[in-house]
Amino acid sequence: MKQLIRKTIEEFTASYAHSSDTGWEKPLVAFASANDPLFAKLKELASPTHELPQGFLSEARTVITYFLPFADQVIENNKKGRFSSQTWGEAYIETNKLIADLNRYLQEKLIHQGYQAVFVPATHNFDEKTLLSDWSHRSAAYIAGLGTFGLNHMLITERGCCGRIGSLVTDLELPPTLRYKRELCLYKNDGSCGECAKKCFNEALTENNLDKHKCYEMCLANADRLNSLESIADVCGKCLVEVPCSTAIPARENKTG
Ligand code: SF4
Ligand code: SF4
Repeated sequence: MKQLIRKTIEEFTASYAHSSDTGWEKPLVAFASANDPLFAKLKELASPTHELPQGFLSEARTVITYFLPFADQVIENNKKGRFSSQTWGEAYIETNKLIADLNRYLQEKLIHQGYQAVFVPATHNFDEKTLLSDWSHRSAAYIAGLGTFGLNHMLITERGCCGRIGSLVTDLELPPTLRYKRELCLYKNDGSCGECAKKCFNEALTENNLDKHKCYEMCLANADRLNSLESIADVCGKCLVEVPCSTAIPARENKTG
């Protein structure tokens, strides 16, 4: 069943790419037990109102998570300048649509097989004052073993951090994916790199902290500039592109000798 879900996500994404200007690389998929104790810890670590999987589905057994990596041209396009490129903004909107459609498709497939499934929208599910969300797709994906958090607060996966994450809660029981046993971020691993912090134009990200309000200020400035797009693109992403973890797990320097 895990293979079937993985294949469904891969095929749906590949066919979606045909009717979209945004391209995506092959998605990554990982599964968490809905009873993983880390979900309860998110109330302390992420937000006091963070939901448990059972808050969406009382019989929840598994959280399906996936990462949709942006194609190279999307990443390439966001490298220059202080503000996000039009392509980056479009990719954000298109990927949110893909996540919504993919979640609905997966939900129908699971219901057809006799299971229940519930999903949370990919974005704009946060409090605009506190900037806290009641369901962090990124944290769910971390618990499921898709990757580990970088200094830039993004999830570093096998295909880097340039892309978007979706998740779905179901009562189908599936064995969880193993989590990484080490930090994938170079800074968190041995204090090296820090390239993402150097990329931040609004001094939101430093080696010590992410000022979410300053970050959101930059995202809103981009949304204003990208106002010809069909919906709000409150994005930035400068700390994701042209860094060692953009599209792959960053390589550690060989420190022998
Ligand atoms: S750029 Fe370097 S320090 Fe920043 S998240 Fe990636 S690996 Fe970590
Ligand atoms: S998204 Fe932009 S503003 Fe926010 S931390 Fe990254 S570079 Fe800075």
